[in-house]
Amino acid sequence: MTFLPSYAKGAWWTPEGDPDAAIVRDASTGEEIVRVSTRGLDLAGAVAHARTAGQKSLGALTFPQRAMVLKNLAIALNDRREELYALSERSGSTRRDSLSDIDGGIGVLFTFSSKARRELPAGRVVLDGPIEPLSKDGSFLGRHVYTRLPGVAVQINAFNFPMWGALEKFAPAFLAGLPTIVKPATPTAYIAEAWVRIAVESGLLPEGSLQLVSGSVPGLFDLLDLGDTVGFTGSATTAERLRSQARPGVRFTSETDSINASILGPDAAPGTPEFDAYVKQLLAELTTKAGQKCTAIRRAIVPTGMTDAVAEALRQKITERVVIGDPRDEGVTMGPVVSLAQRDEVLRQVRVLTDAGGRFVVGSAEPPQGMSADGAFLQPMLLAFADAATPAVNDIEAFGPVASIVEYTDVADAATIVSRGGGSLVTSVATHDPDVATELLTRMGAMNGRVLFLDRDDARTSTGHGAPVPHLVHGGPGRAGGGEELGGIRSVLHYMQRTAVQGSPRMLTALTGVWHPGADTDTGGIHPFRKPLSELRIGDAVESAEREVTLDDIEVFARFTGDTFYAHMDEESAAANPFFPGRVAHGYLLVSWAAGLFVDPAPGPVLANSGLENLRFVTPVSPGDRIRVALTAKQITPRETD
Ligand code: NAP
Repeated sequence: MTFLPSYAKGAWWTPEGDPDAAIVRDASTGEEIVRVSTRGLDLAGAVAHARTAGQKSLGALTFPQRAMVLKNLAIALNDRREELYALSERSGSTRRDSLSDIDGGIGVLFTFSSKARRELPAGRVVLDGPIEPLSKDGSFLGRHVYTRLPGVAVQINAFNFPMWGALEKFAPAFLAGLPTIVKPATPTAYIAEAWVRIAVESGLLPEGSLQLVSGSVPGLFDLLDLGDTVGFTGSATTAERLRSQARPGVRFTSETDSINASILGPDAAPGTPEFDAYVKQLLAELTTKAGQKCTAIRRAIVPTGMTDAVAEALRQKITERVVIGDPRDEGVTMGPVVSLAQRDEVLRQVRVLTDAGGRFVVGSAEPPQGMSADGAFLQPMLLAFADAATPAVNDIEAFGPVASIVEYTDVADAATIVSRGGGSLVTSVATHDPDVATELLTRMGAMNGRVLFLDRDDARTSTGHGAPVPHLVHGGPGRAGGGEELGGIRSVLHYMQRTAVQGSPRMLTALTGVWHPGADTDTGGIHPFRKPLSELRIGDAVESAEREVTLDDIEVFARFTGDTFYAHMDEESAAANPFFPGRVAHGYLLVSWAAGLFVDPAPGPVLANSGLENLRFVTPVSPGDRIRVALTAKQITPRETD
């Protein structure tokens, strides 16, 4: 009897025995893989370890340093992908299914690492929004800043993505500086244990930054308090139960099931590229991970009279492309669902759908032909409903290769059907008509976390209805849980607290690591261009000599660049323009001169000027005016790599 270890307090731990342990079996053969139990695990000790050792080790690192750990972790996991694929097959996943969980999880680490190094500052706080001047003389300013939470990020995950589901929460929490405890779902906890083991063996993880609890977590919610977070992914029913257990102050977010929709646009008739893309996508969503994806299409919404054409095209594609079986067998394209219990649960929900009037137009509830009874195999199933308002269609999630198909009368009706789902993770629309797309987005955008428009131009490159990407928000309103994950750096901020900070420019500069106008500058010493990063300080500045603008200069610049806009060349027309007193210098002339005024030309530490942000031309400059430049080092963002 083998028990699955947990990783807590910096060491692997295995229960001594537990007659009530959950038994996890191979999805295709029914063979026992491992037993799962936390009997005797010091959960309170794990939480304390995160709060002490984890907070300390992560607090010692800046954002770019944390980002580098994530990148190296991604490389370490990538190097041992084959071990993970082999385990993933035992849960019923084909190689292609594993791409979304294993490669997808690694991809999340790479993306977050590179986005963090580009978009987060070099320190440990994040600024939000502009400086707010709160006094006339500039001596009192306000600014919003994010600082990390002081506790632990607990994840409770669903069985279908044991790796991606954990890493998409771990990466942003880690970047924010918050230690994580992962609690995977029991049916696939052995896959979570495997990637955590690789992460631990890599030696890259700061102490206490990642712990794993394999099994149930009795009493966990009593251990959590203000400053801790719980990120739950799973069914809406479990989410509601757990939400009520969280103490006030504990941030509880949930990503739950949703009855996602896919609309075939009125213009996407059979024979159009949009119709083909729609059917292809429907097939992918039914069969990838045997339909066990929170984002999978559950409702196909098609124009009146289109059910048969879509069903026929789908049947044809299934015949051509789908081979059901043990993912380890050659040529198999669709594996079983995760367990016999899950298969029975799916079939139970299918019965609810047929009792509510659903009629099979693709597949049936019978086991696929020739499959072992020990495996949790199902056929792809599409159920047609005469009435799109049937409550079961919009409410029942059969978490397997199952979808319903309903018809709409017009675009407004299609949007209404989507909304009956009570809030979805994603809706996709196959249309080439921007008016249809605009009307749908206006009517049902707010009911969705993500909306994908599929047409002939993006069908080949689309990442797909069911694939959340790290750059964009994942999560949805209402029934979908009301949470928000991913979405780039936005998700890092979910693990931080936004605070309005008020103080003098000097104090805000010290607190944020970013120079604020009114804080001290140092113009006395060496030109900033002559200082290597090790010597350059925030506030190091240079003030240039003055240069007078002449009409001659304006004309030379106009002829040289071809910019002979009337405001620079024609006195009468320029004066008639409400912005200008008469002919004015080109903004670009002044910017070019600015470089000439502040630059220190000889080769040295400065390698390149990568451009300007927030460049605006706000004051007219006339012939006879004199300009000068103040250049201040406002922020220093060293790179962690060469
Ligand atoms: P589930 O049965 O709701 O379980 C989810 C997690 O909650 C598991 O880790 C489970 O652990 C844990 N859990 C159950 N009772 C608990 C308790 N009293 N205290 C603490 N933890 C508890 O869901 P599932 O069957 O694993 O996953 C399938 C569902 O997840 C589907 O409905 C799917 O739509 C949804 N899902 C949503 C998303 C999303 O991002 N929105 C993503 C993936 C899946 P045990 O396994 O140990 O019981």
